Amino acid sequence: MKNKNDKKILENADLKPIDKDLFSNAYPETVPPLNKYMEKLANWARANSLWFLAFGTGCGAIELRPLLTSRFDIYSKGIAPRPTPRQSGVFIIGGYSSVKTLKRIIRSYEQMQNPKFVISLCSCSINGGMYFDSYNTINQIDKYIPVDVFITGCMPRPEAIMAGFDKLKERILAGKTEGANKYVENFEYYKANQKKIIKDWNMPDYNW
Ligand code: SF4
Repeated sequence: MKNKNDKKILENADLKPIDKDLFSNAYPETVPPLNKYMEKLANWARANSLWFLAFGTGCGAIELRPLLTSRFDIYSKGIAPRPTPRQSGVFIIGGYSSVKTLKRIIRSYEQMQNPKFVISLCSCSINGGMYFDSYNTINQIDKYIPVDVFITGCMPRPEAIMAGFDKLKERILAGKTEGANKYVENFEYYKANQKKIIKDWNMPDYNW
């Protein structure tokens, strides 16, 4: 399926000429759904193999560790941590995000392959929480990358995180997790927001 970004070229304006050659300048593309029954089957598989990248940006990420114990036994539910963005389908923003961390969040998110889903964990990543007026805290992470599920709390207990995973599964099965396509369709919006915050933008505009 063609999309409106097909012919566009990324400027990568902040890269040195020698670095420009190292990165693709093609726009990211949306991923069209498969036919009705195959998409349902794919969504069933996606919902039952949630490999997540836990980005411990803040203190709330500590509550992810209990999920790995026998009490919560996430492996039996098809949920497992992975060490790199390339291997992960779920990105968990684990708490407040700072101006400095935002750059790493964007790089990690863009390196994940489609389809990919984002969970915003903790009040801080949703509205800044107790750091809402800090000079260095990102108050709404969904202005910079699309979020599929929000888990509120300071800090959310493991039970709340499990409920968040259940909600994500529900949304995937219902075909309501279009975050990755939304990112592409609103690419200029997200990039403009990101570049307002990140002043030393010495990276490609899209990190394939
Ligand atoms: S909401 Fe609370 S636990 Fe979560 S990152 Fe903020 S201060 Fe830490």
